[in-house]
Amino acid sequence: MSGFSKKWRPWVLLLAGIAGFALLSGGCAAKKPWKPPVQQKPAHPVPEKKFELPPPPGTTLETRPLHERIIRVLLTLPVKSIAVDGCPIRVWKEDGTLVAESTGTFSLTADGSRIRVGGMHSDGSLDVGSAASFSVAGRKFPAGRVRVVNRQGKLLAIAAIPLEEYVAAVLSREASPSFQPAALAALAVAVRTYAVNGAAKPRDPAYDLLNGVDDQVFDGFDRVFPQFRAAALETRGLLLWSGDAPARANYHSTCGGRTESAADAWGKPYPYLVSVPCDDCRESPAYRWEYRMTLDEGKRIAQGLGLRARDDLKIEVVSKSPTGRAARILLSSGGVTREAAASAFRQGAGTTKVKSLMIEIDRAGNGWKITGKGYGHGVGLCQWGSDGMAHRGRSYQEILEHYYPGTRLSAGAS
Ligand SMILES: [Zn+2]
Repeated sequence: MSGFSKKWRPWVLLLAGIAGFALLSGGCAAKKPWKPPVQQKPAHPVPEKKFELPPPPGTTLETRPLHERIIRVLLTLPVKSIAVDGCPIRVWKEDGTLVAESTGTFSLTADGSRIRVGGMHSDGSLDVGSAASFSVAGRKFPAGRVRVVNRQGKLLAIAAIPLEEYVAAVLSREASPSFQPAALAALAVAVRTYAVNGAAKPRDPAYDLLNGVDDQVFDGFDRVFPQFRAAALETRGLLLWSGDAPARANYHSTCGGRTESAADAWGKPYPYLVSVPCDDCRESPAYRWEYRMTLDEGKRIAQGLGLRARDDLKIEVVSKSPTGRAARILLSSGGVTREAAASAFRQGAGTTKVKSLMIEIDRAGNGWKITGKGYGHGVGLCQWGSDGMAHRGRSYQEILEHYYPGTRLSAGAS
């Protein structure tokens, strides 16, 4: 969800690549070629309690006790083929029948409406996994299973992750390991609440959440350092409630001095996602930033927003939200004008370049100088602000009260 994780992603990819190479170049003591299993119906070789698959759609996910909740996360965009690696790795049908067993790397491939693995075809979904560590589409798991679904000739990989494991793994990508324990604990509650809120309204019948910034960054289980697990454990099972429902606990990297209301950011009000002052995120590397946009880049963004721009392109902010964030942008060229949502302009430019909407746009040479404050949409908890509050001795409960006013912290609805 936050912009912070992007800073870490090259390192994550590098480490994942190194881990993957190590695995491929000798992780398995004795590599065996793919073969059909001798035993067709094993008695669940994977510890079911730790990484249990979710019940079928329509059953009561939301009535399970929180500590038994499973969050289903989409791992890949629809792809033709998914590589898996493990020692050993097994493939099951949804009914638990073992259909393949191998060591090392192999692929599951979409073949029309079926899934091909080795020389075998399956009409339904397949579960791949191991009792030891394994990887799917480059993401590492300590044990468990990942479901592979054929959706209109392309494969989706969906990890089913116990809630508390998911919270620690998301923290490891969304937060800095250098954050104070109280800041990590506050974010753990936000991550857990966001996940439970999302699972109550799944994005798709097959999965609850995406694995990227549109929901929360989940990138497997390598580098889930002890402080992230400690934050999940300290707040185990705690959610933020609004009335009798888990809150929509959005968060972001750095607000730049004042958070944004959901009403102004997205046109949808929530009583606890209101604008609050934040004097604690000044230590963020993105508290103030500057981006130089070239003329060609501006023309490309304008084109994407429906204006065929020439060299005389003008870009200006024409309206702002009450917190000073750009709301509407006016583009003009050759006597033609086009107004667009500032968020669409930010998306067009790239959200890691134009880090927030708290911006001023000035002409500079042939292009523009964009000066800004903060990183992310600005709604809900400010991560760097939380860390600042924690440095001032505030507890995670006080941090949550500040950024989500009016919510109740509890393990249950009542
Ligand atoms: Zn802030």
